[in-house]
Amino acid sequence: MTTQVSSWGRLVSPEHQVIALNQLDQLPVSFGKSGLPFGNGRSYGDVCLNPDGLLWTTCGLDRFMDFDTEQGLLTCEAGVLLRDIQRLVIPHGWMLPVTPGTQLITVGGAIANDIHGKNHHVLGSFGDHVQSISILRTDGETITCGSKLRADWFAATVGGMGLTGVVVQATLQLRKIDGPWLEAENVPFHQLPDFFQLADDSEAEWEHTVSWIDCLNSKGRGVFMRGNHVAAQTDPKPSGGGIGVPFVPPISLVNKLSLRPFNLAYYQLQARKRERTLVHYEPFFHPLDNVRHWNRIYGPKGFYQYQSVVPRGVGKEAVAAMLRTIAAAGDGSFLAVLKTFGERQSVGMMSFPMPGVTLALDFPNKGEKTLALLRSLDAIVREAGGRIYAAKDSRMPIDLFESGYPQLTEFVKYRDPGISSAMSRRLMGY
Ligand SMILES: Cc1cc2nc3c(=O)[nH]c(=O)nc-3n(C[C@H](O)[C@H](O)[C@H](O)COP(=O)(O)OP(=O)(O)OC[C@H]3O[C@@H](n4cnc5c(N)ncnc54)[C@H](O)[C@@H]3O)c2cc1C
Repeated sequence: MTTQVSSWGRLVSPEHQVIALNQLDQLPVSFGKSGLPFGNGRSYGDVCLNPDGLLWTTCGLDRFMDFDTEQGLLTCEAGVLLRDIQRLVIPHGWMLPVTPGTQLITVGGAIANDIHGKNHHVLGSFGDHVQSISILRTDGETITCGSKLRADWFAATVGGMGLTGVVVQATLQLRKIDGPWLEAENVPFHQLPDFFQLADDSEAEWEHTVSWIDCLNSKGRGVFMRGNHVAAQTDPKPSGGGIGVPFVPPISLVNKLSLRPFNLAYYQLQARKRERTLVHYEPFFHPLDNVRHWNRIYGPKGFYQYQSVVPRGVGKEAVAAMLRTIAAAGDGSFLAVLKTFGERQSVGMMSFPMPGVTLALDFPNKGEKTLALLRSLDAIVREAGGRIYAAKDSRMPIDLFESGYPQLTEFVKYRDPGISSAMSRRLMGY
C-alpha cells in the first residue's frame, strides 16, 4: 500500500510506503528500498521525501520520559511536537531556548535541520541545547551521543537531514523564563541600510530580532520586530481560535494583483504599532500557526521557499542585489523575512546557520520563470560565499550545496546506507 505525501511547499506529492514507528528497537526495512524518518512534514522541499521508498513517520514516538524541573532537563521521544513541550514546561518556568516560526514540528525534525529562531545572536540554534540523543540505525545499532559523548556522531546528526539514522529520543536543556510573555516593539524602516543599523543597535539589548521586508519596494523598506521575555504584571490572555484555508484554490492567491496592496497595507499597519506591547509567546514566535493550511493559498502548483545566508561583511550588497533581482522580476513574496545570525559556530557538520544575514522568501510556483529567478539568486549567494537552507530547498545546484557545506565529505562517512531522501539522491548521488 502506498500513499501520496507532500511537504509544506506542496510542489510534488510522490507515492511512499508509509510506516508508523512506535515503540521500537529495530527499524522496519524492505529489501532494495531505502527508508527516511518523517516528522511533521513542515520542511518545504524534498528533504523529508523519499519517493518510491519507505517513510518512517514518528508521530507515534510521542512520549515524555523525564522532566527535571530543578535543572530544566527534558527527555522525550523524537516525535513529540515543540508545541507540546512548551505547554508542558512553561507553567514550570522553563521554555525551549530556540523555536522556529512554527511550533508544529517534532524534536527529531528540529534536530535533523538544526533549526534556528529569532535569537540566534544570543542562543545559537536548536542543537546547542540538545544534551544527548539516541539514534537507531538500519543495522539495529543504537548510538547514544552528545557534545561530550561520541561527539562526531552528534555533529553528524544535528543538521544531518535524517540521513545518519532515526533519532528516537533526546534530552534537551531548557531555559528559565518568568512566564509566557514578551515585551515587543515594531520599528518601521524605509530602506535596507536602516535594517542593518537597527540590527546592530538592537542585538545587545533585544534577545529576539527579525524583520519583515517588502520585497516589491526597490529601497527595501520593512518592519523590524524585536522582543524580550518579561514577567508580566497583568494577566492578559493569548488570542485564541484561529482560522484556516479550507481548500486549495484553483490558482495561487499570491499574485501581482494581490501582493502589492497586501505589502503596502501590511507595512502601514505594522508601522503604526510603534509602541511597546505585551505579547504572548505563541503569536510572537508562531504567527502563522493560527492559520491552518495557509500553504494552500499558493494553489495547486505549490510554492518554493528560498532561504539563504551570506556572510555579514558582504551582507548589505548581497541582500540588496537579491532584492533588486526579485523586484525586477516582479515576483515578490509576501512572506519575506530578514534576520542576522550571530557569531556562534553551529554544532552540526551540515547545520545551516553561520555568522551572517539570512533572507527567506517564498514564491508561487510558476515553473521555469520561477526557477530562472531562483538561479539568479543562487548566483548572488554563490558569489557572496553563502549557503542555502536544506529545510526549505528542492532545487539547489550541487556546486552551491558543496561550496556552502564544506564539511560534506566528512558528513557522508556517518550516513546510514539504508537511508536516503529525494534530496540526498539529488545532491549527493544516493
Ligand atoms: C511556517 C513555517 C515556519 C518555519 N520557520 C522556521 C524557522 O524560523 N527556522 C527554521 O530553522 N526552520 C523553520 N521552518 C522549517 C522547519 O522548522 C523545519 O523544516 C523542521 O525540520 C520541520 O520539522 P518536522 O518535524 O516537520 O520534520 P520533517 O519536515 O518531517 O523532516 C525534516 C527533516 O528531519 C528528518 N527527521 C524528522 N524526524 C526525524 C527523526 N526522528 N530522526 C532523524 N531525522 C528526522 C527528516 O528525515 C527530514 O530530513 C519553518 C517551517 C514552516 C512551515
